[in-house]
Amino acid sequence: MIEAVCHCGAARLSAPQAPSVVTECNCSICRRTGARWAYYSPREVILPDGARTEAYVWGDRMLAFHRCRTCGCLTHWQSLDGARDRMAINARMMDLDWDKVRIRPFDGANTWAYLDEPA
Ligand SMILES: [Zn+2]
Repeated sequence: MIEAVCHCGAARLSAPQAPSVVTECNCSICRRTGARWAYYSPREVILPDGARTEAYVWGDRMLAFHRCRTCGCLTHWQSLDGARDRMAINARMMDLDWDKVRIRPFDGANTWAYLDEPA
């Protein structure tokens, strides 16, 4: 079990295991927030009380990006269309040994592909 905790401690998520791989995306929001995303099924993550975070939703309204209402840390995103069995936790909120985590660059801005593998 691993916890993701915002700076003030108000928003906490629990996931079954620490990530061995995270994604760094260059899309319009991720390049601004600097998040490192660890992906999970929503069924295996314990979310913070809904009142602890507020969501940012824009564009095609596919994803909700949640930040702590108190300290502003970006904690996770959730799919809004319900079609995807996937959510992401910002692994920056986890106490990880980063030397042991693979960080994969993802080109969310253009090609929607990982940049560390051949096309
Ligand atoms: Zn907080």
